[in-house]
Amino acid sequence: MGEPGQSWSRRGLLVGSAVAGAGLVLPGRAFAGPPPTTDPAPPATGPVPGPSAVPGPDGVPGPAGAGPLAEGVPVPYVARCFEWGARKPKFPPKVWDRRPIRILVHHTAGANTNDYSVGAAHRMARAIQNYHMDRNGWLDSGQHFTISRGGHVMEGRLWSLGELNGGRRVVEGAHSPGQNVIAIGIENEGTYMGVDPTPALWNSLRVTCAYICLRYGIAPTELYGHRDYRNTLCPGDRLYAALPRLRREVAGLLGRRLSRTESTKASWPLLRTGDRGPTVEAAQYLLRDAGSLTGKPDGRFDDRTAAAVSEFQRAHRADDVNGLLGGETWPELARTVRAGTEGDAARAVEVLAAARRVESVPDVVDHPQWQKLLGTSGSAVPDAQDPQGVLNR
Ligand SMILES: [Zn+2]
Repeated sequence: MGEPGQSWSRRGLLVGSAVAGAGLVLPGRAFAGPPPTTDPAPPATGPVPGPSAVPGPDGVPGPAGAGPLAEGVPVPYVARCFEWGARKPKFPPKVWDRRPIRILVHHTAGANTNDYSVGAAHRMARAIQNYHMDRNGWLDSGQHFTISRGGHVMEGRLWSLGELNGGRRVVEGAHSPGQNVIAIGIENEGTYMGVDPTPALWNSLRVTCAYICLRYGIAPTELYGHRDYRNTLCPGDRLYAALPRLRREVAGLLGRRLSRTESTKASWPLLRTGDRGPTVEAAQYLLRDAGSLTGKPDGRFDDRTAAAVSEFQRAHRADDVNGLLGGETWPELARTVRAGTEGDAARAVEVLAAARRVESVPDVVDHPQWQKLLGTSGSAVPDAQDPQGVLNR
């Protein structure tokens, strides 16, 4: 624990020698002197003034259908770093002169506490910050925002709230490699593999997402789970399964309607030890095709399969080498298969086509076709990555 209070102004900004003259460099221009300005705390309720349409980040087309500002969008109360007793970061976070294009939903994988108090929320935020700084070696909390099971919303990494309120720049996070500048990371307290989030957490999550979408001009379709991009259980099977509903409810708060098709995203099934069936068998054929698995595919995700996945991940220099087959590894494993191809990749296509009773397989099985065969099709998941120069710490 640091000594919160001494280094913080009333507006939650870090002041003093740690920042003054730090010469933080923003892409495209130098930022020297005072830290990024922070707007006063938003009101607890009420409509948000703003432009009628928000363009995308510089050089990047705006997300389709971000739409005009809705009247009466609720503004969440977000506790700033100084309010929950955050430590001073090891050095000032990097601020990028661009808008993020999506939101990544995480769970903390911690206990599902029944203590819904604000005190418990602040303790949790401090524990995460300590873990990220002391165990992971990061400069500050990795996520931009944190929500407790009691529904208390907190700023994660310093300056995240001020930049959100400004709506034009983003603080570099450390919540998911490749997504730390282009995606706002929200950590939701708890583990949502077998249970749903509390109603209070859910409500704060949807309101917070709506506010982020509004401020940055992010379309409500552009909410994802950590596992869409990495090999991780995060944000838990249940919270992940609730993402289409979250997209629809966030759209509703913004005065829009999303169809089921729009709110369902094409992604990859997260396979792990204990899974069975044709999807696993297809993955095994693909692993054997890649030279990572020996022996006969049998549709059982056992230790041998997990070891093969890890082997494949190592060979492809994955960030997550853990035997979980998720959003980082699937796109590399599911290689394009053309009609007339023979071998294990074609066999994987056959297994899935038979299981899903697909009469005719297209001549070219690329990622969207694989996702259809895997039963995870929906609207496209853009594969945009962070710009170069992200520290990820
Ligand atoms: Zn996560």
